[in-house]
Amino acid sequence: MDCKIVTISGDGIGPEIVREACKVLDKVAQVYGHSFHYKEVLMGGCSIDAYGVPLTDEALNTARESDAVLLGAVGGDVGNSRWYDVAPNLRPEAGLLAIRKGLNLFANIRPAYLYKELSGACPLKKEIIGDGFDMVIMRELTGGLYFGERHTEEADGVLQATDTLTYNENEIRRIAIKAFDIAMKRRKHVISVDKANVLDSSRLWRKVVEEVAKDYPEVKLEHMLVDNCAMQLVMNPGRFDVVLTENMFGDILSDEASMITGSIGMLSSASLNESRFGMYEPSHGSAPDIAGKDLANPIATILSAAMMLRYSFDLDREAEAIERAVQKVLTEGYRTPDIMSEGCTRVGTVRMGDLIAERI
Ligand code: NAD
Repeated sequence: MDCKIVTISGDGIGPEIVREACKVLDKVAQVYGHSFHYKEVLMGGCSIDAYGVPLTDEALNTARESDAVLLGAVGGDVGNSRWYDVAPNLRPEAGLLAIRKGLNLFANIRPAYLYKELSGACPLKKEIIGDGFDMVIMRELTGGLYFGERHTEEADGVLQATDTLTYNENEIRRIAIKAFDIAMKRRKHVISVDKANVLDSSRLWRKVVEEVAKDYPEVKLEHMLVDNCAMQLVMNPGRFDVVLTENMFGDILSDEASMITGSIGMLSSASLNESRFGMYEPSHGSAPDIAGKDLANPIATILSAAMMLRYSFDLDREAEAIERAVQKVLTEGYRTPDIMSEGCTRVGTVRMGDLIAERI
């Protein structure tokens, strides 16, 4: 198979982790007889430095013409970088919002899986962890509060800020369909999370999700209020399979789900549109504190590349080969500093990439 992949290394540790993911993809290409053609484009702080904006139209168009995008991370040290001395729409992370919108990436999938080898890093008690957990958070990505009308005004010397949360039924329906489709390939259980006791947008959310559920009689649907969900994630994480929710709730809950896996450096993500096109990136940020030191864990990005093979290229066997290689390296006791524990072998970013590639 011939695939055009746009890479966006971005800022901080981005270039280091994307390099390792491409190394692993190249090994997959070699073993399974595929050709992956890469084209690098700038986004985030590096694009601001080069062009004065976090994402140019050219970069967006190049991404649009590709089969899939592999992204590292964007952004710098928020309290200590010139990239943040400008209007919010010119900051590095604005590139991220613009590319999601520009590519119509409305569905964000973040798996939260507890590797047995890393269960010591899980902050939950053993009796809560039980047999572990394996869930995906399906978050709506292009609507809701982050994309609504906003303004700040001053009246009689008092500042007042307003943000608005809007969803239409089509936006809800398309993400619900994705969630039920994914549930069909998993344990067939969707928990839809909202705040229907307060918000109109949540009441519409619930109504549309129930309509979609009728087309999936094999999938069990449950509704859960977002505050309860935040508690259940740390009380009984094993009960979740597919969590379906809107943009802001998903932003917060997916970070919480990440945290209970114990390591942000292990968590992949995919953002999809209505076709097979997707953007794949680790769930963590650009970690400027460890950039350029060979300390970053590349596994989240490598697992994101595996998701790319599965969701955009239909290469399930190859995706599994990457996931197995990651599992093998962990079982053999290799660890980057963020997941290091006693008795294991500490390795850097590049060595971790080598070890995984060697096991494909
Ligand atoms: P972060 O995820 O970059 O870092 C949080 C902590 O986790 C840091 O201590 C960091 O060293 C560590 N960490 C993160 N990824 C790691 C990895 N792969 N291996 C080992 N350790 C890792 O979050 P932050 O510090 O809040 O944000 C830093 C910058 O990243 C900010 O500019 C923020 O806006 C940006 N950001 C970008 C994205 C994105 O590009 N999708 C997402 C979140 C944050």
